Amino acid sequence: MNTKYIFVTGGVSSSLGKGIFCASLGCLLEAHGLRVSIQKLDPYINVDPGTMNPYEHGEVFVTHDGAETDLDLGHYERFLGHKTSQANNVTTGRVYREVIEKERSGEYLGKTVQVVPHIIDEIKAWIVRLAETQPLDVIISEIGGTVGDIESLPYLEAIRQLRYELGSINAQVAHLTLVPYLAAAGELKTKPTQHSVKTLLSYGLQPDLLVCRSEHPLDQELREKIARFCNVETRAVIEAADARSIYEVPLQLSQQGVQKLILEQLRIPPQRITPEPDLTQWTQFVNRLNAPEEHVRIALVGKYVTHQDAYKSITESFVLAGAKLSVHVDVHYVESGDLTERNYEDILSGVNGILVAPGFGHRGIEGKISTARFARVNQIPFFGICLGLQCAIIAFARDCCGLEGAHSTEFDEHSPWPIIDLMEEQKTISSKGGTMRLGVYDCQITEHSRAHSIYGDTLVSERHRHRFEVNNSIKHHLEEHGLVFSGINPESGLVEIAELPSHPWYIGVQFHPEYRSTVGYPHPLFTSFVSAAVNLKNGR
Ligand code: GLN
Repeated sequence: MNTKYIFVTGGVSSSLGKGIFCASLGCLLEAHGLRVSIQKLDPYINVDPGTMNPYEHGEVFVTHDGAETDLDLGHYERFLGHKTSQANNVTTGRVYREVIEKERSGEYLGKTVQVVPHIIDEIKAWIVRLAETQPLDVIISEIGGTVGDIESLPYLEAIRQLRYELGSINAQVAHLTLVPYLAAAGELKTKPTQHSVKTLLSYGLQPDLLVCRSEHPLDQELREKIARFCNVETRAVIEAADARSIYEVPLQLSQQGVQKLILEQLRIPPQRITPEPDLTQWTQFVNRLNAPEEHVRIALVGKYVTHQDAYKSITESFVLAGAKLSVHVDVHYVESGDLTERNYEDILSGVNGILVAPGFGHRGIEGKISTARFARVNQIPFFGICLGLQCAIIAFARDCCGLEGAHSTEFDEHSPWPIIDLMEEQKTISSKGGTMRLGVYDCQITEHSRAHSIYGDTLVSERHRHRFEVNNSIKHHLEEHGLVFSGINPESGLVEIAELPSHPWYIGVQFHPEYRSTVGYPHPLFTSFVSAAVNLKNGR
C-alpha cells in the first residue's frame, strides 16, 4: 500500500486544537493496526521555535535527534507513543533556507527562483520525505495557522497540488472549524464555518471532513445544514465538543466513526487493518484519569507560568504519571520572580512536592535557588529539571559546602565558585539557533542509587537542551558533603543526575525527562516523584 495523506487545516479561529485532533486521529488509525506519523507545517519565518520566547510560542519540544520543535509534536509523541524527528516539523524559515542554499550553490541552473514553483516544490518534498524515513501507511500533516492567513498560502497551494497529483483516495483534507453558540439568539451558528470552507474552496481545496468545535452538541438538522452548504456528506460533519481532558478526544471521535469514514475514503483495503480499533488500554487509562483516589499539590516554580503552554510536557507528564498511580496532581504554578526571602515560605507552604522548571536568563533565579533550599531543608520532595538541577546545586554549594558566592556563570560571570559553567564546546559559539547541547545523550547510572531503583537500569538515554553544566573541577566539594552524582554521561563525563540520599526525594536532572513521557510510558522519574509527594501527604 502506498502512503496515504491526511492534510489538516483550520478555520474561523486559532487555538481550536488541531494538534490534539491530529494526535487523536493518529491514535485511532494506529488502533486499527496502521503505521502513522504526524507532521506539523508551521508558516512562521523562524527556522525553528528554539529562539522564540516561551511567552510567544509556549514550550519548545525537543525530539530525540535534537530538533527544537513545536509543542504539538509533544502531543503526537504522547498520544502515539513513538518518536518524531527533524522531518516532523517544517517551517517557512527552514523551507526558504534550503531554497536559498540551493540557489547559492547553483542548483537552479540560472532560473529565476520563485515562490511558485520552487518554494511550493520544497514544501511538497518535505511532506513526502517523511515517508522515506520510515515505512508509513498514513501521514497526517497539520498546517499551522488559519485559512486566510497570508503566510499559510504556500502550504495550501502545496497540498492542493499534492492532492491533485495523488488523487483524493490517497490524500484527504480535514478542516477544523468553530461553530459558535450565540447566547442572545440561543443558537449555534454555522455561518463562520460556511465562510471558512468558502475561503478554502477559493484556494482549490474541498474538505472531505469537517470537524466542528463547539460548546454545545450539534443536532442532526445542523449537521445536515453544514453538509449541504459545504459539499460534504452529513456523516463527515463531526462534532468536537469540549472534552473533560484532551485524552478523551480519541474516544469522542471514535464514537462518531471518524476513522472508519477516513479509512473508507482513503480506500484502505479491509484486509490491511484490524476491523475494530483496539482502544481497551486507552479507555482504561481515561477511566483511571477520571477517577483518582488521591490528590496531591505540587508547586511548579518557573518564570513563564502565566503562559499556560510554556511547561506543556511537564504538566502532561504529571497527568500521565498521576493516571498510572490513580492520583490527581494539582499543579500550583509559582512565578519565580515573585519569590523573595520574605515570602517564599508562605507561597510554598502546604505543597506536597516542588518542581523547579527549566529556563534561561537571570530573572527569578534567586527565587528558584531559595525554592531548592526550602525543599531541601524542609524534606519536601524536590525535582529539578535542567536549570532546576543547576539551582539545587548552587544552593547546596552555598549552604552546605561553604562555597560562598557559588553561582552559574550564566548569571554571574565573576563568581568565585562557578559551580555551573558553560560547556567547553559552547565557549566558541555565538550563533543562537540550534546550537545548544540538544537531543539524546546516554546517562550511566550508579548502582544502588535512587536513580537506579527508579529506572531499574544502569544505562538510559534522555533528551537535552542546555548550554551550561555542573563544573567537574569543583564538584568534589559537593560530593564530600553528601551530594551524589548518580548519573554521568559516559563519553563526556558531564553530570546528568544529582541526588541527595539523606532526603526523602531530592533529585535534579540535567536532561528533560518530560519529553519522553507518553500515555503508554509515564516517565518513571515523574511517577516516583508523585509517589513521594503522596507519601509526604500521608505522613509516610
Ligand atoms: N539556562 C540553562 C542552560 O543553558 C538551563 C537550560 C534549561 O533549563 N533548559 O544550561
